Amino acid sequence: MNRRKFLGSLSIGRLGLLGLPEAWADESNTPVLFPVPTNTGISGRIVVVGGGMAGAAVAKYLRLWGGTGVAVTLVEASASYTSNIMSNAVLTGQRTLASLNYTYDTLASHYGVNRINARVSGVDPDGKFVSLEGGGTLSYDRLVLAPGLDFDLMPGMSSPVEYETLVPHAWKAGPQTQLLRNQLLAMPAGQHVVLTIPRAPYRCPPGPYERVCVIADWLKKNKPGSKIFVLDANANIIVEKENFSQAFTVRYAGVVDYRPGSTVTHIDSAHRTVTYDQVSNGVQVASHAQLQPAVLNPIPPQRAPQLLKDAGLLSADPLKPFAPVNVLSYESTLEAFIHVIGDASLTTQPKAGHIGNQQAKTCADAIVRLLSGQPMNREVVTNSACYTPITSTTATWLSAVYQYDAASGTMVIPAQHNNGSAIAASAPTTENYQDMQLWFKTLMGDTFS
Ligand SMILES: Cc1cc2nc3c(=O)[nH]c(=O)nc-3n(C[C@H](O)[C@H](O)[C@H](O)COP(=O)(O)OP(=O)(O)OC[C@H]3O[C@@H](n4cnc5c(N)ncnc54)[C@H](O)[C@@H]3O)c2cc1C
Repeated sequence: MNRRKFLGSLSIGRLGLLGLPEAWADESNTPVLFPVPTNTGISGRIVVVGGGMAGAAVAKYLRLWGGTGVAVTLVEASASYTSNIMSNAVLTGQRTLASLNYTYDTLASHYGVNRINARVSGVDPDGKFVSLEGGGTLSYDRLVLAPGLDFDLMPGMSSPVEYETLVPHAWKAGPQTQLLRNQLLAMPAGQHVVLTIPRAPYRCPPGPYERVCVIADWLKKNKPGSKIFVLDANANIIVEKENFSQAFTVRYAGVVDYRPGSTVTHIDSAHRTVTYDQVSNGVQVASHAQLQPAVLNPIPPQRAPQLLKDAGLLSADPLKPFAPVNVLSYESTLEAFIHVIGDASLTTQPKAGHIGNQQAKTCADAIVRLLSGQPMNREVVTNSACYTPITSTTATWLSAVYQYDAASGTMVIPAQHNNGSAIAASAPTTENYQDMQLWFKTLMGDTFS
């Protein structure tokens, strides 16, 4: 798993309708911008909602592969994008939020993406238009929804303002990330942190465990005697179990107190009190137990935004409140001409920025094929990669290759790839940490420039 392989891993198994190269960086790692072809004979109006990891990438690749006849309008609520990836490093002071900021300038100036800074308030699948908050509508031939996800209130909470002012989840990078950092800094040594993990599926499967590690590392150095208690709603660590178990029980012994099978039943934000039940191997080991830490970081259950629910795009399964899609095109299985990519979609792939970028390329390719009357590519391959800092200088990684399985209509890890399982690094190393920086730069460059 070397650097070259990761650079290559950002392309997908597409021949490139227009024969264009898919790399974005030259040997010196300088972004190489490819020209948008003018004369493809393909035309259409595509509206993309959300300019995050999935939405920015699909807007770029629709223009790159579709040509200037494909009018792409990207509607994004924020003026710029703050990356969630690497945002745990803001908590420990290793990065600033500003270093995670990406603009839409290159998408507009180089690729000719028409950018609108507004929030979409409604989707009309029959009329094929979206409504903008504050007025106005945009018509589309095909719509791509990439709005990320929304966060539920934890039991006992009455307003999202509690996340913004008292108990930040910081699971969307921004002011809450800075608030959590400030709370950690202000915490007296010897006092404790509680982090709660929701039942899967949630954004970035290794992310919460990564956050536990980097906070534990920081507590060890900066707050002697402090601990981080982890209330995990899952029965056990859900990914990279060996690496995280080793970190929790050996490297961070006495600092991390991991409590799997813990369901939060109440949060009192004002007093930072969390009440929970814990079940271990089918046996209830804690009932209405309470912790009152100095810093409370609840990572809430997550769902596709209300916009998608209102448009009738969500699965009926209350445990999977996301949008089912045909993974050859990411077209909704419930509404034609609407595609859903990124965290809001319901697939067998993880909710992660790297996979959002891959879904975006699959979707862009499929839309160009649909507009030009070409058959769908039925041999779609995607790749997922996550790097995980374990300390301030070492990291592990987790990677998987997914391939379309016609029998189930889903993306599966082929049996020949590590017996159908994701592959994890055998141990945290400094080399992995350095590779992580290159991987991040490559992924963000491919998405925003
Ligand atoms: C701490 C942390 C660490 C992570 N680490 C990794 C990692 O190492 N590797 C990895 O692959 N992934 C990682 N992730 C996950 C990754 O950040 C997400 O999976 C990814 O950002 C999802 O991309 P998305 O495009 O679906 O949503 P987002 O990136 O959230 O983008 C959604 C965009 O849509 C916009 N939007 C929403 N609603 C509207 C609307 N109605 N109108 C207009 N605009 C709207 C939002 O403003 C936002 O810009 C991490 C996440 C966290 C929290």
